[in-house]
Amino acid sequence: MKPKSIYACLLAVLILYSCQPQPQEKEPLSLVGDTTNFQWLTEQFADLKIVRYQIPGWEKLTAQQRKLVYYLTQAGYEGRDIQYAMNYRHNLTIRKALEKIYNNYQGDRTSEEWKNFHIYLKRIWFSNGIHHHYSMNKIVPTCSKEYLSSLFEETNTALDDEAKRAIFDPEFDAKKVNLDPSNDLLLASAVNFYDPDVSQKEVEAFYAPLKNKGDDTPIWYGLNSKIVRNDDGSIREEVYRVGGLYSAAIEKMIGWLEKAIIVAENEAQANALKLLINYYQTGDLATWDEYNIAWLQATAGDIDYITGFVEVYNDPLGYRGSFETVVEINDFEASERMKVLMDNAQWFEDNSPIMDQHKKESVVGVTYKVVNVAGESGDSSPSTPIGVNLPNSNWIRATHGSKSVSLGNIVSAYDQAAGAGFLDEFVLSAEQKQRARENADLADNLHTAMHEVIGHASGKIEPGVGTPSETLKNYRSTLEEGRADLVALYYLMDNKLVELGLVPSLETGKAHADSYILNGLMLQLRRLQPGEVIEEAHMRNRAMVSRWVYEKGKADNVIEKIVQDGKTYFRINDYDKLKVLFGQLLSEVQRIKSQGDYNAVKTLIETYGVQVDRDLHNEVLDRSAKLNSAPYGGFINPKLVPVVEGDEIIDVRIEYPSDFTEQMLYYSKEYGNL
Ligand code: ZN
Repeated sequence: MKPKSIYACLLAVLILYSCQPQPQEKEPLSLVGDTTNFQWLTEQFADLKIVRYQIPGWEKLTAQQRKLVYYLTQAGYEGRDIQYAMNYRHNLTIRKALEKIYNNYQGDRTSEEWKNFHIYLKRIWFSNGIHHHYSMNKIVPTCSKEYLSSLFEETNTALDDEAKRAIFDPEFDAKKVNLDPSNDLLLASAVNFYDPDVSQKEVEAFYAPLKNKGDDTPIWYGLNSKIVRNDDGSIREEVYRVGGLYSAAIEKMIGWLEKAIIVAENEAQANALKLLINYYQTGDLATWDEYNIAWLQATAGDIDYITGFVEVYNDPLGYRGSFETVVEINDFEASERMKVLMDNAQWFEDNSPIMDQHKKESVVGVTYKVVNVAGESGDSSPSTPIGVNLPNSNWIRATHGSKSVSLGNIVSAYDQAAGAGFLDEFVLSAEQKQRARENADLADNLHTAMHEVIGHASGKIEPGVGTPSETLKNYRSTLEEGRADLVALYYLMDNKLVELGLVPSLETGKAHADSYILNGLMLQLRRLQPGEVIEEAHMRNRAMVSRWVYEKGKADNVIEKIVQDGKTYFRINDYDKLKVLFGQLLSEVQRIKSQGDYNAVKTLIETYGVQVDRDLHNEVLDRSAKLNSAPYGGFINPKLVPVVEGDEIIDVRIEYPSDFTEQMLYYSKEYGNL
């Protein structure tokens, strides 16, 4: 499953688990090279690299299973345009205009200006819109305004004035999601979940009476709608459903899901799909909950999927879900290894350093699988999570459990495509390098598993305290990710893992701590532009955890800062004390969540998770630039090609395309529903 090469391991450890907020984990930190003849890395531009992935085990599926996978991926692609529309109100018109230029321009396609225009378009495809997928900042075209204007003219391409302003004026709608609490979060964010003039106060007032505090099975208010302004000045929800917003795409999705039902592996799977269709037809969020429960109960098949309006990170207020699809094939061998962890989930809860009143008496329904991805769309593509834990609804998780998956072939492709050199550049001691080489791969796997299975599942909220999105607001995701990371950091240095046979020795935990601290204190800064502060939830949580333990351990020299030949390094001197510090922070982070302590979370994250040491940042940028590896990866999907006899699909085969531009143009043409 994981690459054998040493280099793959290194990158894995070093680039470090850049997971995404609660249910999604993004991009591993690994430093490996190619071990096969397959072309993994196809191109790099701006701060992005484009990677291909393979679908292992495809030939072991039956033709019926392959058809199921095909229909589910098609349903996902039909919703691709929805994500562009959600991310920003002008994204679709801008994308279509630029694609028209790309397809029709007859002039010189070798000039620097043209190349920069092409890069701008590729960056928009990568981010599903004109704001950077990770930093949320507007992408600035590097071709000149005059040149871009001439392309519009020469290809007879029209675009309305405000959309043009969105391209050219960097101050206008500058940020997709702005989490700076000194602003009105909605007015400062360009994301298209709300009409542009709708304020945070109005939306909070809109939902306050709907949230019946006595309801212990609440729907996720606002998950599948946009808030729009009425003529009389009031606001209302415009629901995504057949006959509602995004209907054209949703109807196409339903068409494929109906075919999927016919080839479903079992009745439970078919029932879940029927509920999903019903939900898309009605937009009823109680049906969405019913669907999620049915989806949780459909565990018998080899094929599974994530789809719908799911993750709420793109909404600064955490109500509205982005569209995504991930189609998955079970990796039985790798999943078996994780069963040990699941079987001992209660032990980890009982022995956690958190306060006793915050521990769960019984950890329910923790399941963890390693799967191979067969296709992704919407918010999960081209940039993808590497691990996912769903559903998000707290009461469904408490009552029915959740599904956790690690996307094995994606992690593997990252490793294969990653550039070399980080370990040598950023690690001083030969011992630490060796430890990374030997343990990175395993530490990486276990981190993801523990973060998802034990981490997010752990702990409980005190009676009478509201949900984390109510109490912790914009800091919810950062705190939740920090909590899950801390569980992994703490237990990876615990003898229990050795006892369970999951690690050969505590060296794995040490390697894990080495790379986490290196990433949190320095390496992840390479993702920021000069002058930026840390905004993204996972980056904030890693900075918060790493800097907190660094500060608190200073008196005992737990982590030492070393400057040698003008280069900064951090070395852990005392792993036992570090483990104690991880435990102390975990206990405090859990207390904050359990008691909904907004002031504490704000102080914790603003103190440790946001600011950037400019000198250190510049140093990291310089040292990383020499290694020539783009910090963000995204993926070209394999193409599933139906084998047709008469007018019937009898089987499906795979092709592995290698041209990102071609795939994006194909998707826009084939699935341009909005
Ligand atoms: Zn997470």
